[in-house]
Amino acid sequence: MAYGKMKEFLQTELKSVRDAGLYKQERYIYGPQGADIKVEFPAGAPQQEVLNFCANNYLGLSSHPETVKSAHKALDEWGYGMSSVRFICGTQDIHRQLEQKLAAFLGLDDAILYSSCFDANGGLFEALFKEEDAILTDALNHASVIDGIRLAKAKRYIIKHMDMEDLEKQLSSPEVKAARFRVFATDGAFSMDGDVAPLAKICDICEKYDCLVMVDDSHSTGFMGKHGKGTHEHCGVMGRVDIITSTMGKALGGASGGFTAARKEIVELLRQRSRPYLFSNSLPPVIAASAVTIIDLLSQSTERRDKLERNTMHFRKAMTEAGFDIRPGVHPIVPIMLYNAKLAQDFARDMYAEGIYVIGFFFPVVGKGLARIRVQLSAGHETEHIDKAITAFTKIGKKYDILKKSKDEIIAKYGL
Ligand SMILES: *Cc1c(COP(=O)(O)O)cnc(C)c1O
Repeated sequence: MAYGKMKEFLQTELKSVRDAGLYKQERYIYGPQGADIKVEFPAGAPQQEVLNFCANNYLGLSSHPETVKSAHKALDEWGYGMSSVRFICGTQDIHRQLEQKLAAFLGLDDAILYSSCFDANGGLFEALFKEEDAILTDALNHASVIDGIRLAKAKRYIIKHMDMEDLEKQLSSPEVKAARFRVFATDGAFSMDGDVAPLAKICDICEKYDCLVMVDDSHSTGFMGKHGKGTHEHCGVMGRVDIITSTMGKALGGASGGFTAARKEIVELLRQRSRPYLFSNSLPPVIAASAVTIIDLLSQSTERRDKLERNTMHFRKAMTEAGFDIRPGVHPIVPIMLYNAKLAQDFARDMYAEGIYVIGFFFPVVGKGLARIRVQLSAGHETEHIDKAITAFTKIGKKYDILKKSKDEIIAKYGL
């Protein structure tokens, strides 16, 4: 049996993952995603009611009545599935309508749908950039941007995270200057730190060196910027970003699906050449129709992104006053810095016991010695939810004696 030898190897691999404390165990949620959820963790443990502070449900739309209602209606109108890729017989009016809405919302010429943003990124670079081109990429970009760039034959240049000097230095190198086309790819907001890419500076520099700008705005579409269009609106560079990829799997309803919005000819060529578009099934019409409803909702009113902004400011301010070491910023991703990996895990476990569901992140998901708890705010949270989280954080913070302590003091006490 061929598998015998491989089985042994895999068992050893799995053991080493477990021994390193890196084994990911899934928690079961009973019922819909939301602010108030019932969780079974670990598997077999009694269900516990907790407040959810670790979903990408930024606008609270994942189980919102408007989303669910529109999905029910869409199911009746367009059916369940397409059983086809787009270019054979998998495109309905609702798919095209969503593409046009997304493009208009983001201020770009056109958009093309994918099954996920992972696929949008996977099918982007290879279709557009060849051996004679240069792709510059922020060191902390999302895995799907990294993988998408790997699939292209263009030369790759890694830029130090949000380092504008490095970007300019590499763009001015003779090799990059000699390339046929240049593109700089960056996440709009980075998922572990909540950092927002300095897009105004990036556009200035890229324009100077004739370099296209590509932004993966998965953690921003729908809520960053005054009208929730994303980091290009937040940074005042609408019209200057050439390509935006993003997801429907986060703020825009949270089911799944992704897209690339870009200049006209770019989208047109992707429809001809992009492999995950040509060789993978169409987005379910239910998702397309609900996403249309959500874009309409967000275009009519900024109420939900405004509430998210207020929730974020309230939490960031109160946690800073309570004496936590939080990375400053404006994004609803709020990293509570603990530095030590075990402390981050223990802290998250104690928070769970207090009814607050948050996750500790540590190496290799973040840099060594940069362990943290990542909190994600949502417009689905009410002030009382957030205050409950702050109270629990403060209680556990006291237990571990880390309040009003500097980074060095926390490291001196717990090590790295
Ligand atoms: C979540 C995320 C993705 C993946 O999106 P899916 O639609 O779930 O595949 C891609 N890029 C970034 C930056 C993300 O945060």
